[in-house]
Amino acid sequence: MDPDRVLEGLDPEQRDAARSVRGPVCILAGAGTGKTRAITHRIAYAVASGIVTEQQVLAVTFTTRAAGEMRGRLRALGAPRVQARTFHAAALRQLSYFWPRVVGGPEPTLIDSKLQVVGRAASSCAIQLDRTGLRDVAGEIEWAKVTQVRPTDYEKAVTKAGRTAPMAAHDVARVYEAYEEMRRDRNLLDFESILELAAAMISEHPEVAQRIRDQYRYFVVDEFQDVNPLQKLLLDAWLGDRDDVCVVGDPSQTIYSFAGATPSFLTRFSASYPHATMVRLVRDYRSTPQVVRVANGVLRHARGAAAEHGLELAAQRPDGPDPSYTEYDDEPAEASSVARKIAALMDSGTPAREIAVLFRTNSQSAAYEQALADTGVPYTVRGATRFFERPEIKQAVHTLRGARHGADSEPLVTTVRHILAPLGLTETAPEGREARERWESLAALAQLAEDVVGERPDATMADFVAELDARVATEHAPEFEGVTLASLHAAKGLEWDAVFLIGLTEGMLPIIYAESEDQIEEERRLFYVGVTRAREYLALSWSLARSPGGRKSRRPSRFLDGMRPASPALAGDRAERRRQGTVMRCRVCGNTLTEAAERKLARCLDCPADYDENLLESLKEWRSRTAREQNVPAFVIFTDATLRAVAEHV
Ligand code: ATP
Ligand code: MG
Repeated sequence: MDPDRVLEGLDPEQRDAARSVRGPVCILAGAGTGKTRAITHRIAYAVASGIVTEQQVLAVTFTTRAAGEMRGRLRALGAPRVQARTFHAAALRQLSYFWPRVVGGPEPTLIDSKLQVVGRAASSCAIQLDRTGLRDVAGEIEWAKVTQVRPTDYEKAVTKAGRTAPMAAHDVARVYEAYEEMRRDRNLLDFESILELAAAMISEHPEVAQRIRDQYRYFVVDEFQDVNPLQKLLLDAWLGDRDDVCVVGDPSQTIYSFAGATPSFLTRFSASYPHATMVRLVRDYRSTPQVVRVANGVLRHARGAAAEHGLELAAQRPDGPDPSYTEYDDEPAEASSVARKIAALMDSGTPAREIAVLFRTNSQSAAYEQALADTGVPYTVRGATRFFERPEIKQAVHTLRGARHGADSEPLVTTVRHILAPLGLTETAPEGREARERWESLAALAQLAEDVVGERPDATMADFVAELDARVATEHAPEFEGVTLASLHAAKGLEWDAVFLIGLTEGMLPIIYAESEDQIEEERRLFYVGVTRAREYLALSWSLARSPGGRKSRRPSRFLDGMRPASPALAGDRAERRRQGTVMRCRVCGNTLTEAAERKLARCLDCPADYDENLLESLKEWRSRTAREQNVPAFVIFTDATLRAVAEHV
């Protein structure tokens, strides 16, 4: 492709970035400013200009989905053979290539169930852990490994990092040591040791280092604000003494520091490489001005690196709808209302894949899965139970591996469907949440077979199984077409037309165990990531009680303070009115109205019916009734003047 054509569709700063073909280059910019787009075009530009070949490029992305999207864009830009992978996938590939050729001996295999090994390690130390305990300790071991802390140093490191260990730090260190021993004895690899081993292989085997450095000459790393020391170690091993690397990131989106990532590799990039080209992008191409305003509002309150770099966004897109802020009485009411709004969006033409429901913890997902299933909306859950750990998928992969030869007389997709049918892949989706989930994951496998055949019409069962194995190793789950349900962590780098940020209460966002200022700041950045995923439609919501009739003890997230539009006409203190129980309710369904709805006195957003024209009269009626119920004079609730102002306003 003509290099100049590759630059089309970039703004002047993005072009500068793309034309800075020699590293080191650092693009530091806010969400939606086109960082990922700029580096993708930069790669294509370097290839089109003949500066590098496609095979010499290694682009590292944060998730397999991001890698897939980048490969798709590169294909469209005339560079289909560029490798875009996660750190893990790239390391795994290098290990599986060089291990038998250079290192020799039995090849390590991937851990099947990490929690099981952690559990055995704990038992060997006479420590009993329940499932939550196991997860917590596994998380600590992960943190220690990515920050390069050995078991003997764990206690000291935990104190220094200001972390709260899930049990006595001394015990975590013992389990960590036992876990590593067991893992090595059994020749097992966990996620972290894939990176460790790849880096060690490069540093201990000069011929491997030589081969890798001969091949890769052009490195690009996206989401660099969330790189951890172990990933940095591997990147440095790839680079050797060269500095042809381009990194891209946004300090305001650092959301993995709890897991050992640090934005300082990004923010100190120019200190490490004083001759680096630094690029700033400020135009936000993703979101409407209404969404950008919310994002900038979140940033204004941020502290630390996010604030120092002042990455205020300048909206480029035309106006869109105002973000909505909705308070519900309880969680099921919130979930069913969101499901109805999603169904309405789909009815008005927004495809399901362009809609996402984002939450802080995976435990919040179930109510939405149920509500969407009840409403008949297809959905797919990201980052919950890992796809390849689902029992039906384990069984399916096992069966497919065992199926191989002779069946090739029939088309691959038909064979795959036949094999999956007894596991629950019926023609149409069954009723009930569990059966439906099972069906959807099997359907995703069948869809994957179709995709493989789409790319290679002569693909055989062996090809399909090879594709599956590669995906199992890198946890690259196939996509199912539907509304996305995802944790905020799993949503980074992605975008949707419509985003519902749900469950925004104190205790959920910020999460209850976020106590220190640093932890609260990380929660704020998570909120920022969530807000900036929306292109057009952003709905923020929370509920006051867990279940219908339950105690309304929840408070809206502090991150919403000052964000919900204030109303001059209804200047009365809403919090105070809520305390008095005089918050307005929708006349049709009885739901509490949001401040925005109160201000406009529009109908409750959930209700199809409108208010009647005799607004003032009905307002007065509502006021007298409430006053009677509350046993207070009517003017305490609203004066006549206020009601008139409101009625005129509408
Ligand atoms: P994040 O920080 O969330 O990862 P980002 O900075 O990587 O965001 P991109 O995903 O590259 O941003 O771009 C955001 C959206 O804006 C994408 O839909 C992209 O195609 C679009 N976009 C980026 N640059 C331009 C441009 N110059 N003209 C038009 N659209 C653009
Ligand atoms: Mg990006």
